[in-house]
Amino acid sequence: MSKKIAVIGSSNTDMIIQTQRIPRPGETILGGRFSIASGGKGANQAVASARAGGDVSFIARVGDDMFGKTAIEGFEKDKINTEHIIIDKNQPSGVAFIFVADDGENSIGVASGANANLSVNDINKTSGIIRSADILLMQLEIPVETVEYAVSLANKHGTKVILNPAPAQALSDSLLQNVFIFTPNETEAEFFTGLKIEKKGDAQKAADVLLKKNINTVIITLGAKGALIATASKKEFVPGFKVNAVDTTAAGDVFNGTLAVAIAEGKELEHATSFANAAAALSVTRLGAQPSAPDLNEILKFMQDNLIE
Ligand code: ADP
Repeated sequence: MSKKIAVIGSSNTDMIIQTQRIPRPGETILGGRFSIASGGKGANQAVASARAGGDVSFIARVGDDMFGKTAIEGFEKDKINTEHIIIDKNQPSGVAFIFVADDGENSIGVASGANANLSVNDINKTSGIIRSADILLMQLEIPVETVEYAVSLANKHGTKVILNPAPAQALSDSLLQNVFIFTPNETEAEFFTGLKIEKKGDAQKAADVLLKKNINTVIITLGAKGALIATASKKEFVPGFKVNAVDTTAAGDVFNGTLAVAIAEGKELEHATSFANAAAALSVTRLGAQPSAPDLNEILKFMQDNLIE
């Protein structure tokens, strides 16, 4: 039976312009190609989890508009439980404006809209979902007090939390010590530790600082290089997969969504991370956030083709 993943987080509509390079302030660049895709870190991770085989409930807020409606229709296509998505009457759905350059680099501006209204009270109403979940997966595109509350609720019910601290913002030590797996990328790891991550040893040092905050497991994602996994007893690099990157927009989201499934299934940390690396590598070969998340068969075939069990 599929493992239960509860995802609490943002849902946005991404307006993407693919362009030769990202415009500088004051600059206009002609010749871009426009597309719209469903995004938002919460929604992206929910979709990645569902496609990788998780039984996903997504807890979020969207506006009472076309973007929210389209997003929910998309979640339903991916068999995500949308019962706990609240339609906000006062705020529009979240939107993101994204530039993607030809080399895969991106630049993003977000208007949070309804996401900023996801409250402690909303989370209270979903207490049953959090209790019955194998994993609670969250990011930081919703109010931090909502994240704090959800973490404490999960902790009370014995549900393990994976927190992807993106975008980075200050978190209390009392929150961090209740996080089972903390998954910053290099920039976020730098934010939380004050250490520059430039060479391999730096990530290990940053992981040590984070482990001292009583987080059970730290996974620092390292872009094309893969990820560093760190617990009190071991540190290990899990290499990434070599692919032709087209758009790295949701790489971290696909990584976290698929990691949650593998961890919920009881896969060993190194194997779960390799599974997440494979899914994220596949996603960077495609444009868009949610459209780029692979399904379980694709991930398994890709791993097999690349000789990883
Ligand atoms: P974020 O997307 O949050 O900035 P990273 O850049 O660290 O996070 O990417 C997350 C994961 O996506 C990496 O750990 C890796 O598995 C995968 N990934 C990212 N970029 C590439 C790439 N160019 N080639 C292969 N895998 C990649």
